[in-house]
Amino acid sequence: MVHRSRSSSSSSSSSSSSSSSSDSDTTREHWWLRKKKTKHAGNNAASRLTASTAKLLLLTAAQRVLPSTPMTSNGQPSENSRLLSSRRDQDTENQAPTACESNPKVRGVVWSALTSVFVAAVILLVGFERVFGDAFAPWLGKLPKDPFLAALAILDKAPVIDGHIDLPILVRARYANNASAVDLESEMPGHVDIPRLRKGKVGGFFWSVYVSCPDPGKEGKDFLGGTWRVRDTLEQIDVSKLLISNYPDTFALALNVEDIKKAIVGGKIASLLGVEGGHQLGNSIAVLRQYHALGVRYVTLTHTCHNAFADSCGYLPGIIPLHGGLSELGRSLINEMNRLGVLVDLSHTSDATAKQAILHSKAPVIWSHSSARAVHDVPRNVPDDILQLIGHGEGKDAVVMVNFAPFFVAEPNNATVKAVADHVDHIAQVAGKQHVGLGSDFDGIGDVPVGLEDVSKYPALIAELYSRGWNKYELAGLTGGNLLRVFEGAEKVALDLQAAGTPPVFDLYDKRTDIPRGHSEL
Ligand SMILES: [Zn+2]
Repeated sequence: MVHRSRSSSSSSSSSSSSSSSSDSDTTREHWWLRKKKTKHAGNNAASRLTASTAKLLLLTAAQRVLPSTPMTSNGQPSENSRLLSSRRDQDTENQAPTACESNPKVRGVVWSALTSVFVAAVILLVGFERVFGDAFAPWLGKLPKDPFLAALAILDKAPVIDGHIDLPILVRARYANNASAVDLESEMPGHVDIPRLRKGKVGGFFWSVYVSCPDPGKEGKDFLGGTWRVRDTLEQIDVSKLLISNYPDTFALALNVEDIKKAIVGGKIASLLGVEGGHQLGNSIAVLRQYHALGVRYVTLTHTCHNAFADSCGYLPGIIPLHGGLSELGRSLINEMNRLGVLVDLSHTSDATAKQAILHSKAPVIWSHSSARAVHDVPRNVPDDILQLIGHGEGKDAVVMVNFAPFFVAEPNNATVKAVADHVDHIAQVAGKQHVGLGSDFDGIGDVPVGLEDVSKYPALIAELYSRGWNKYELAGLTGGNLLRVFEGAEKVALDLQAAGTPPVFDLYDKRTDIPRGHSEL
């Protein structure tokens, strides 16, 4: 289960970012960007500093009061004198003896008193930190020792940006997309509402504008059957944007990394849109451009069905490949996603699709909601040989955002917060801690892991990982920093391609017969 670690080599940013500056100087941005190699390095360093400073102060005080050569009761130099006296001796050797120095009894009393003071101070320091340390930790720039309190402190600085939340499809199913009938301030039937988002310290999430795959019996292998998937997707974009705008004090539509940061700094929840499946494009790259114009910032190449662009992994136990990965049109789709700055999402894809997409994409890719196959062997999870491709070479950055769906996490009845943490840990061990994130799938799953019942429970997962040795910078990467870095990478690729004058992609699906291909057909 444990594989070679590439955490220190697969990203130049992580290996070079250790810093000696104090914990209290960290800003939100620092927490997202900085990584530390050593576990709890900040805390340990602070503790060592406190202890050594205390020792130094006490020793200095003792040196000032004590005679230069303290004696034992039999008149010999004491053991401690050698620790305390060296420089002081040289400085004072020509001075006249004090009353204290000339009287061994007085010296003994003073020495005993100072030793007692020293011991009492040490006990007080240790005891104070044990009893009151957590309460005063924020003022000392330290994390509380209690893992849950530490998780809350980390999330205050680096809130969760979840890669996949299915609130819009719940609103479609339960409220017929009537946004005015939805009260997100009250307790919603699923896993998501505003009070629970706030309790869970959520700073942003992708609203999945998902509609289901067509019935394979009606659709046929060329995907040319009449479907209403584009219409339905537009309805999901519509209801998401209406809900976002209905709560302007809570949600802020985010179209780029800058928008996400601005929303979080302003105390709002950055709201992004993601399309969950190439079947929602109606075989058309022009539709992708229009989704982008409406605010969509990732497209999952497939859902549980193959489409004209790529092969899916299916569901359980999986499906027979059709294209052998990406089709030619799929490669063209990725080119256009790169040019626009739409993230290529590889959740739900077949292994061949994922491998080919990683190689083909100029921009970093994401898995918006996928876990580790080595931890639980289902086709929806990412295998190690694909995790090992992440992070090697220009544009090969990526983030795998771990899915909480119990049937992807563990055997029945075994999905717990610890089991989800096992997936996070495994992806971190194989791909590196800078390549893992969170993509819960809340509101898209019926069952939930024990301890991760809804969006209020993210702190429990962060606490679990903190207990396992993740430091606050690594956790800040997990909660959102890694996604922001990958998203920024995709934005840069898009800017570069546009600056180079890369034209839009006009490739048509070759099986379409509804569109004239030449003047003779008009
Ligand atoms: Zn999904």
